[in-house]
Amino acid sequence: MRGEEQTFRLSVFPVSYIFRNFAGVKKDNFYFKLLNNMVNYKDLGLVNTREMFKRAVAGGYAIPAFNFNTMEQMQAIVQAAVETKSPVIMQVSKGARNYANATILRYMAEGAVAYAKELGCEHPEIVLHLDHGDTFELCKDCIDMGFSSVMIDGSHLPYEENVALAKKVVEYAHQFDVTVEAELGVLAGVEDEVSAAESHYTKPEEVIDFATRTGCDSLAISIGTSHGAHKFTPEQCTLVNGVLVPPPLAFDILAEIEKKLPGFPIVLHGSSSVPMDEVNTINKFGGKLEAAIGIPEEQLRKASKSAVCKINIDSDSRLAMTAAIRQHLAEHPGDFDPRQYLKPARENMKKMYIHKIVNVLGSDGKLAE
Ligand SMILES: [Zn+2]
Repeated sequence: MRGEEQTFRLSVFPVSYIFRNFAGVKKDNFYFKLLNNMVNYKDLGLVNTREMFKRAVAGGYAIPAFNFNTMEQMQAIVQAAVETKSPVIMQVSKGARNYANATILRYMAEGAVAYAKELGCEHPEIVLHLDHGDTFELCKDCIDMGFSSVMIDGSHLPYEENVALAKKVVEYAHQFDVTVEAELGVLAGVEDEVSAAESHYTKPEEVIDFATRTGCDSLAISIGTSHGAHKFTPEQCTLVNGVLVPPPLAFDILAEIEKKLPGFPIVLHGSSSVPMDEVNTINKFGGKLEAAIGIPEEQLRKASKSAVCKINIDSDSRLAMTAAIRQHLAEHPGDFDPRQYLKPARENMKKMYIHKIVNVLGSDGKLAE
């Protein structure tokens, strides 16, 4: 047996070696993928962001990028996208990978495509995106296992190192037609192991050089949004009719960036609005969320009409889920079947996703013809 195995390996080795190293071979070639144990997102029915961003910039709306790590979130996202006929980005953070496992999340995204079709959407446009990739190796792993889009976040690095890292990821990703988001400027806040004490606005004078030299497909910028459900301290806000209103986003910086890179896809992270009704429900039914403050939806609506074509929303989904679960369990103390409280949780998230798509980002009815 052992002898047979060895013969087999010896005969296979040179073929795989030739395929891996032959410069002209197409990387999405069937044999290349087979020999390298790779999955291309196109075989899973997923799409990259290129076409949808082009349409979003031209059409003055933004594509929702919802983080997911549970089946209920995935179902709610797909149901909302199908009902509103919206393209959608399902994204996976480092925390999500640690919680749910990247392979499982990839199969869930593949399942999301099949589920969307089952719900009657003939040609769903679903992107599986890596949120805040921090190394080349991680981005490569995700690309090799079927992600259609990756973010390489080198924003904490010195400028030249950020450029070099992003460029390396772009060079690899583009061989497989995977799109890449890079970031300039630092967002404050904490989000799944990404944290920064203070924000540094993106410098408009750097964006042309950065986009040109890295070849990235979209650029995440920092103009005052931030990660998490506590984006601002009450001291940073003004009290208007009993409501704490955070400082406005730096639309002047966004306008300058747009002038430097006309039509280039811009991304906003940390853009949950932290709805007060969900926060109040959580607190009413035993929670203790203090001074949770988000980005007002009017500001996101305004940003969506500009070159901002991807808006990341994570905390709002967490709040919607937690509020519904807390309310259900408080009102039905005898329930212990997770389906009893996850069903209203899923419904509440779906309602929130639909609201964002239709009333904030404007991506409803925007599937490709
Ligand atoms: Zn982020």
